[in-house]
Amino acid sequence: MLNICFVSTEVAPYSKTGGLGDVTEGLPEELAKMGHTVCTVAPRYDQYKDAWDTEILQQVKYGNETTKVRYFHSCKKGVDRIWVDHHVYLAKTPLVNKKLYGPKASVDYVDNSERFAMLSQAALAVPLLVPLGPHGGKGPMGEDIIFVCNDWHTALLPMYLKEYYQAHGTFLNAKAVMLLHNIAFQGRFPMSKFDALNLPEKYLPDLSFSTQFAPPPLDEKTTEPITAREPMLMLNWLKAGFLNCDKVLTVSPNFAKEVTSTPADGVELDAIAKAVGLTGITNGTKVETWNPQKDKYIPTKYDAQTMGSGKKLCKAALQQECGLEVDPDIPLFGFIGRLENQKGADVIIAAMSKLEKLNCQVIVLGTGSPKLEEQLESIGDKYPFAKGVARFDIELAHLITAGTDYCLMPSRFEPCGLNQLYAMMYGTIPVVAPVGGLVDTVPPQFGFLMDKIPMPDMPGVAISQEMLEQGVDAMIVGMKKALEEYGTPKFDKMRLMCMANDVSWKKPAAKYVDVFEELMGSKV
Ligand code: ADP
Repeated sequence: MLNICFVSTEVAPYSKTGGLGDVTEGLPEELAKMGHTVCTVAPRYDQYKDAWDTEILQQVKYGNETTKVRYFHSCKKGVDRIWVDHHVYLAKTPLVNKKLYGPKASVDYVDNSERFAMLSQAALAVPLLVPLGPHGGKGPMGEDIIFVCNDWHTALLPMYLKEYYQAHGTFLNAKAVMLLHNIAFQGRFPMSKFDALNLPEKYLPDLSFSTQFAPPPLDEKTTEPITAREPMLMLNWLKAGFLNCDKVLTVSPNFAKEVTSTPADGVELDAIAKAVGLTGITNGTKVETWNPQKDKYIPTKYDAQTMGSGKKLCKAALQQECGLEVDPDIPLFGFIGRLENQKGADVIIAAMSKLEKLNCQVIVLGTGSPKLEEQLESIGDKYPFAKGVARFDIELAHLITAGTDYCLMPSRFEPCGLNQLYAMMYGTIPVVAPVGGLVDTVPPQFGFLMDKIPMPDMPGVAISQEMLEQGVDAMIVGMKKALEEYGTPKFDKMRLMCMANDVSWKKPAAKYVDVFEELMGSKV
């Protein structure tokens, strides 16, 4: 059996801004069910009710300062959840799900480099110091361990592992895996931040990165022509993580291919990703949380047998809640996600005048870009068939998942995507862009593909009006295919096929174990 330690800035339901939190909730639980010893280490952003103070302290570096973190501990569903307590996490984020990375959307905290470098250092001490089990009754995890570093925030861990521990004879059999959830965020910082990382000079080449583009994420505020920029040398945590870990994984096979294909798709890390090699394992879902038979947020629970009537009631409740005409026969599309260009939320908003002619309803729930939030809030005023809700609302997300006919995902890129998987469990048919994990998870029997939503060749470039309109037409291609089948026997069959599809963590978790066992040399 394996010892696995996930290190992450998000663990749902404690802290979540997107799919990362969902994965670090569900995958560890499934691995624990299989009998492996699994813990997660994440910042203690809030006073989690179920977490006790272990009173264990560890000295770490916060930039150039030496400081101490304290570990809190919860234990649920066989997984030890270790929380790193330090005022730089707690003071900034008194409310879970908010402000994990910056004071507002698209703005980072100035000390993110120090905060997250400290997290990796704190996490490395956990398997040596913190006893596991419901009351800390078992011993610590020990040295034969796999660290799973999630995204750029934890990409320094492989280097701290080598320098702070393995060089001194500790963790000699430990492995560090990088699990990539999104290539658009890479941990790019000015070179001047290197000294505060507390790593030897020899890592400077691995961390150095020349970019000609504006730092991602894609940002509609960028108006400068990108070719006018001089190449700029920056630190890139993800690049160094790729080069120093034992294995790079990502959240779908198709995304693994895309990332290595062009500078635009790989956000300039394509060549490095190709050199190290990426293995894609499609995400699963936590079937206990997303299950129409048990969902506490929906007015009527339903299964495959009662799906017809169940969904009808949920749809009526949703239409009412959103102030739309309550009509079971109007096809209803729903979108849930970050309001960023990645997700194509701008495309949906720009499509309104064309969607008006399709005789359908559209509900959009999301937060993110202030400009898109503002536009979203007002779409209902002009277009009575549409409703935009600019807040993070888990309850409404569940009602949308159950009450809509179609799950709309016009993503420009999508490492895996989770909403299409949740939708399928509720008999809601995905209508998705042909990118990333959406291709792997939505074959023709389960949903409809749009045309590709165009995006600039270079990251950071603004999306032109022309490109936006092309995106609108590409999305409508998929919506029209879906509408042609609405209410037909094929539509009903697809809904049932979706519900019968196993999107649980069971199969993905077994694939992770294969990879981990091979790494640890324990594969029989
Ligand atoms: P991401 O790229 O953001 O990680 P995913 O599709 O992988 O995208 O996961 C997004 C997760 O966040 C889903 O569980 C989705 O339901 C949830 N989510 C996103 N925005 C909202 C919101 N405004 N309200 C409620 N849940 C949201």
